Amino acid sequence: MRKKIVAGNWKMNLDYAEGISLFSEIVNMVKDEKKGNQLAVICAPYIHLNSLAKLGGDVVGIGAENCHEKESGAYTGEISAKMIKSVGCGYVIVGHSERRQYFGETDQLLAQKTVAVLQNDLTPIFCIGETLDERNDGSYFEVLKSQLENGIFGLSTQDFSKVVIAYEPVWAIGTGLTASSEQAQEVHAFIRKEISAKYDAAIADNTTILYGGSCNPKNAAELFAQNDIDGGLIGGASLKSRDFVDIVKTFN
Ligand code: 13P
Repeated sequence: MRKKIVAGNWKMNLDYAEGISLFSEIVNMVKDEKKGNQLAVICAPYIHLNSLAKLGGDVVGIGAENCHEKESGAYTGEISAKMIKSVGCGYVIVGHSERRQYFGETDQLLAQKTVAVLQNDLTPIFCIGETLDERNDGSYFEVLKSQLENGIFGLSTQDFSKVVIAYEPVWAIGTGLTASSEQAQEVHAFIRKEISAKYDAAIADNTTILYGGSCNPKNAAELFAQNDIDGGLIGGASLKSRDFVDIVKTFN
């Protein structure tokens, strides 16, 4: 059975003390909720990672929101996957639409970052998603397919089987406009079909595909009830312990 994951993405929010405080609340609230194939993960700014992993890394998985594609070197201000691994993280978000949009990250760069993440025994949460224009002009399947092909379909079967995918329609991120459960399910089924065509049906069946974009405690249950939706990548609602934990509990 594929893993079910609810992952928070704190983005560029919370100073050190605020991060510790929110994470401690989350750990306390989810420690009795942990079930076999269900995981809660928090992806946080780099400054928090070491402390969060020590505070509750065995209850709640910890991830970074980005990494550099190289292992080390003269790249002032950057952080490598190896460094992220060294503080006890298990995950790295790769290719979030904000990285693509504001930092010019291309599919080719994201393919390199994904390899770096996998080489360091971390799980990439690889994000894809279409803009509002691409949704409206009907090109979204093509866009998503090309993000998959150029970003992660170059991986070996063994490496691909470790990847988590997050479908985050750009028009739904931070806008309060959630994709309907039908819209999200349609895309998730499409992604799984593409994985099956590229790899095989068993790999497709085992791949965890998360939905992200204005997911909250009110809409999570309906979204997660869809056949091909295996959890969520949560932005705004992950900054409130009650909301995040209510979304985690949606699985129970
Ligand atoms: P919101 O949940 O705030 O829409 O953000 C989603 C997201 O970008 C998670 O990575």
